[in-house]
Amino acid sequence: MGLNLIVLVKQVPDTQNITGDAMKEDGTVNRAALPAIFNPDDLYALEAALLLKDRFPGTRVSVITMGPPAAAAILKECLYRGADFTALVSDRGFAGADTLATSYALKCAIETLGAYDLVFSGRQAIDGDTAQVGPQTAEKLGLNQITNVSRIEEVEIQKRTITARRSVEGGWERVQTGLPVLLTFTSEGEAPRPPSAKRAIAYRNTVPSVGEKPGGTGGAGSVMALWDIPAIKAAPEQCGLAGSPTKVKNITSVVLTAGEIRYIDPGEGGITALVHELIADHTLG
Ligand SMILES: Cc1cc2nc3c(=O)[nH]c(=O)nc-3n(C[C@H](O)[C@H](O)[C@H](O)COP(=O)(O)OP(=O)(O)OC[C@H]3O[C@@H](n4cnc5c(N)ncnc54)[C@H](O)[C@@H]3O)c2cc1C
Repeated sequence: MGLNLIVLVKQVPDTQNITGDAMKEDGTVNRAALPAIFNPDDLYALEAALLLKDRFPGTRVSVITMGPPAAAAILKECLYRGADFTALVSDRGFAGADTLATSYALKCAIETLGAYDLVFSGRQAIDGDTAQVGPQTAEKLGLNQITNVSRIEEVEIQKRTITARRSVEGGWERVQTGLPVLLTFTSEGEAPRPPSAKRAIAYRNTVPSVGEKPGGTGGAGSVMALWDIPAIKAAPEQCGLAGSPTKVKNITSVVLTAGEIRYIDPGEGGITALVHELIADHTLG
């Protein structure tokens, strides 16, 4: 007996290459100005799902992303790595979504997919960095959640339980809960597998198809759906800017300039002299 797994992935601007054009006037990200990459934590979430697929025959991995048409690129990557079905949730009405509106749209898309046992997400996206979307989606679906997971230790399909290792400050803890559950993954787990050359050839021409239904495992055209607001039965007023109470006012680049560097003798004499100096200039005391 297999599992139904859903993975949430996000295409993000590569924040290591931030420039002055990174933000638009309205406080949203100017994605055109930055190279787009697969959010790093999400690759680990996908890998955790694929490991369960390797282990439990009959398991299906479906992947959802909400984003502009270009985000189909990461869905293709998911197909190359082993996903069975993907959905691009895309509509002008989703633009400018904060975490509340994003998690609402993802909840509607997950319900459109139908029955599931586990939902996987990254811990956080490297652009917004809030780490709110996973927990908010779980809350909206009424699911148990385990955050900051580095690895799944056990899934007992008959008992419908899962045991996972989650990172906490200074160590880790082992948590067990019942299915269905939403897990958010850090980048500390099993290294993501590379795309398979065979699958890359099979799915190289895949494009999102309007009206595609989950369950398609046939040719290249039946594994990537394009869903707009009506397709996921979402309320337009809860989507995008209209459904987003948060507005990002501005973003500032902080340039850390190195000041004067002094080498202090690590012996007792050097440290004592430094402490006296810090007391004298009122940094200490
Ligand atoms: C600089 C900046 C600051 C921001 N600050 C805030 C803020 O304070 N409050 C706020 O509400 N919004 C904020 N936003 C908007 C926020 O980025 C968007 O709401 C975004 O769609 C989701 O939030 P996140 O990127 O923080 O995701 P996170 O919560 O960090 O993402 C966690 C995981 O959720 C999943 N996920 C997230 N987005 C998607 C998606 N579109 N499709 C599929 N899966 C997804 C992924 O698995 C991801 O790893 C900010 C954006 C920017 C650029």
